[in-house]
Amino acid sequence: MNSFEALGLSAPLIKATQALDYERPTHIQIAAIPHLISGDNIAAEAKTGSGKTAAFALPILQKLSKLGPISPPIHVQVLTLVPTRELALQVAESFRALARFEAEPPPVLAVIGGASIDEQCRTLSNGVSIVVATPGRLIDLLERQVLDLHHVHTLVLDEADKLLDAGFNEELNILMSALPPNRQSMLFSATMPPRVISICARVMPEYTVVRTHTSQPIVQEIKQRAIQVDKEQRRPLLQHLIKSEHLGKTLVFVATQRAAENLSRKLRKDGFYSTALHGGLMQDERNDALKRFKNGRVKVLIATDVAARGIDVPGLSTVINFDLPRSPQDYIHRIGRTGRAGESGVAISFVDHETEAHLRVIEKKNQLHLGRETKAGFELCGEPAQKAKGPAPTKGYRKSKKDKLRELKSD
Ligand code: AMP
Repeated sequence: MNSFEALGLSAPLIKATQALDYERPTHIQIAAIPHLISGDNIAAEAKTGSGKTAAFALPILQKLSKLGPISPPIHVQVLTLVPTRELALQVAESFRALARFEAEPPPVLAVIGGASIDEQCRTLSNGVSIVVATPGRLIDLLERQVLDLHHVHTLVLDEADKLLDAGFNEELNILMSALPPNRQSMLFSATMPPRVISICARVMPEYTVVRTHTSQPIVQEIKQRAIQVDKEQRRPLLQHLIKSEHLGKTLVFVATQRAAENLSRKLRKDGFYSTALHGGLMQDERNDALKRFKNGRVKVLIATDVAARGIDVPGLSTVINFDLPRSPQDYIHRIGRTGRAGESGVAISFVDHETEAHLRVIEKKNQLHLGRETKAGFELCGEPAQKAKGPAPTKGYRKSKKDKLRELKSD
């Protein structure tokens, strides 16, 4: 099964994988494609970077071409739901790229908020086979009765765990009632906690669970570093690193939209090709920022987590956690933007006395041990803050775990 031919894919699809320089199928593609070609429903555990988009797009395109040329009016046959607008555009693009050698490539539309709804309605009325949508705009179109899902034979829930984070649970009922019961369904999720498993049961009467032996992305060659630096010195250090270490395309994560705008403005003032990407921008601006970063006109993209989830930027060499991510899982998502598809990457986290404890939690949860580096001229000032001792436990109450820990530390 170590080739696309052995997976049973058609000649035009194999040609497309060659044009995209895919030498051989990834683990998730080997595990999922045969099930999907034989029409099974699947619940697959797969992270971004594992090649999961092609794992569902290839068999879906094969199915569409087997069903034969579609005569007008074209109905929506495939619905793919994704959590973010950027991912919707990216997945739609993957469908197009993989379908380009088909005799009749199926029309694909990304249905996302922030873009003109009238234009989406017009394109839908001209006939679209594959819709890649974010839930909000999809429900909007369903409520306006401009989107007919009665002919959908294939449903994909991509990044199901993220869909749930975005409040998809409530929207799922509306969606299910709009879809025909006879369809093939597939769900992809980076993790399979009980809440995702309960979605599987609501979406598919029966399904095969697909897990790969490795959860590693295609090529996971990410060098992870942590550099100690005071908060106020982070921007000068960032600029120093970009120059002295010749960082290529660099994605810098910050905590807020405001921080993204400020940092990107200051970098531009200092002569760096930089722009910001966050949820506060208009969709056109977001698309433009990502496009300029992808095509190399912008070298440093300053982004918040919300805007950067799932994005795939070829040649992205460095990810910098200017602000540490909130959760250990977000750390993995962030660094996974680099070291993708055969390229190596570097992930650098800035840490100071105040954030040291948080970085340790991230390391512990992800079973990582990052050394702490210092850069000459940017060393940390001061001492780690002593933790204030809390008040003594109130008499008559049992000591809490925290109280006991505090006592142990002060011994
Ligand atoms: P995904 O996990 O779908 O976001 O894919 C991550 C990256 O891997 C994308 O840039 C894909 O184009 C690329 N990719 C997908 N399948 C393969 C493959 N078999 N070989 C090499 N790269 C691939």
